[in-house]
Amino acid sequence: MKRYNMHTHTVFCDGRNTPEEMIAQAEELGFVSLGFSSHASQTMNSFWGLRDEPGYIERIRALAAQNDRIRIHLGVELDTVAHCEREKYDYILGGIHYFYRGEEGYPIDHSPEDTRLGADRIYGGDMMAACEGYYRTMIDMMENMKPDIVAHYDLMTKCNEDGLLIDEDNPRYRKAAIGALEAVKAADALLEVNTGAMARGFRTRPYPAPFLLKEWKRMGGRIILGSDCHRSELLDYGFDMAVEYARAAGFTKISRLGGFGEELFVEEDL
Ligand SMILES: [Zn+2]
Ligand SMILES: [Zn+2]
Repeated sequence: MKRYNMHTHTVFCDGRNTPEEMIAQAEELGFVSLGFSSHASQTMNSFWGLRDEPGYIERIRALAAQNDRIRIHLGVELDTVAHCEREKYDYILGGIHYFYRGEEGYPIDHSPEDTRLGADRIYGGDMMAACEGYYRTMIDMMENMKPDIVAHYDLMTKCNEDGLLIDEDNPRYRKAAIGALEAVKAADALLEVNTGAMARGFRTRPYPAPFLLKEWKRMGGRIILGSDCHRSELLDYGFDMAVEYARAAGFTKISRLGGFGEELFVEEDL
């Protein structure tokens, strides 16, 4: 499989490295393509979104124009509370990072305590209701935003490695999680197999959970790898394992970000 990453953060949002450092790492790893996907600006929690969107676009486009070794793509990661000049990007990653009620939001990817706090404040402590709310937001995102790729589909389980926060075997959870996959399919989006939480020590397997990936395969869905990279040394973290993970769910094909002379996304044998 040709190497690439399409989910990359830099100092333009909450990443540790500059785009140049990420590109240098990608060249070292023999990538054919690299896609940047800064978090778009958002009203709710501005510290980790793009602070200078025109500067980001200009810098990545300039780096793409001068690089004849790796094809550089300009993407953006949108949350439902985020906004961007969409037509300026090559592709859109859609991801949900909060439990919401109107303009109020509680992060689901920081700690078990924060995830529980959101469930307490918005859903009266009913974690299953919180899960159903999360997947309803997913359906809204697919219908209204139509992202090209869905990032970390079941992010709300990030802090649930020990299973104490959310019972992922609960039929209510499974129904909501599988139900929202229909909206992903209807939007014809790629589903990301994301190794970001593994890289940061939260999880020992990628998103999404095996039962979801198997269901996605049964539905004829398409997948793509992403490391959700915030530090250059983790640019392809867990990819070999993620490939095995996808194979175990039954996938024989996988999409990737195209290199020179290719489409934006190309599908190849796994
Ligand atoms: Zn994200
Ligand atoms: Zn991300």
